[in-house]
Amino acid sequence: MSQQQYAIDKLHAIKARISAAETQANRPPGSVTLIGASKQQTPDLINEFAHAGLTQLGENYLQESIAKQAEVNKHHQHLTWHFIGHIQSNKTKTIAQNFEWVHGVDRIKIARRLAEQNPKDTPLKLLIQLNVDNEASKHGVSLEQAGELANDMAQAMADYSKVQIKGFMAIPQARKTLDEQRAVFAKVQALLAHTNQRFGLSLEELSMGMSQDLEAAIAEGSTMVRIGTNLFGARK
Ligand SMILES: *Cc1c(COP(=O)(O)O)cnc(C)c1O
Repeated sequence: MSQQQYAIDKLHAIKARISAAETQANRPPGSVTLIGASKQQTPDLINEFAHAGLTQLGENYLQESIAKQAEVNKHHQHLTWHFIGHIQSNKTKTIAQNFEWVHGVDRIKIARRLAEQNPKDTPLKLLIQLNVDNEASKHGVSLEQAGELANDMAQAMADYSKVQIKGFMAIPQARKTLDEQRAVFAKVQALLAHTNQRFGLSLEELSMGMSQDLEAAIAEGSTMVRIGTNLFGARK
């Protein structure tokens, strides 16, 4: 099979999974955005997916991503790039220059640097990363602290026009059953509602769901799924 046909088929299959999950959850068609998690995938392959209609890409590693964007943006000018990796504070300028969404924000200092360093006319959209399972190996803020951080960050950023705080991002540990997957995503959805109510905020985005748990995430209100393996294939 050609790489072109491969991309068309894979994109079609994931979109079908997403729309089936939207229907199952009684959510309007198109309410969930597909982000292709393209780390370690080649510019050629990403180009085929963009050609097939994928418009949103998520990247974890800054240097790798900048090199690939230079190739991919030559052919596709209207892609939206999401930074979904860990943010080092000395890299915020490059992130602000090259991405429209930043999913892994977990400190006010990072938000402020992104706001000050965003050269674009449009605001950078930020998501606060949650460490839902309190794993030492993962970044992000605990569910207990997330509401207050969201409020403090919203206050601190109120005078900055170059960033908007849009919601939460979560990468839960793998769980075996759909019910177990749903239980953790349900906590995140409840946290968003509670945070909005408690602080009068209007956060609306939930970046959650990957290849193995996208149905559970969509059932619990995910608005953005980040799909790598089941879209592009195994990473090199
Ligand atoms: C790699 C990655 C994904 C995609 O994971 P798959 O299981 O391959 O779909 C999603 N989100 C983040 C933050 C990632 O690093």
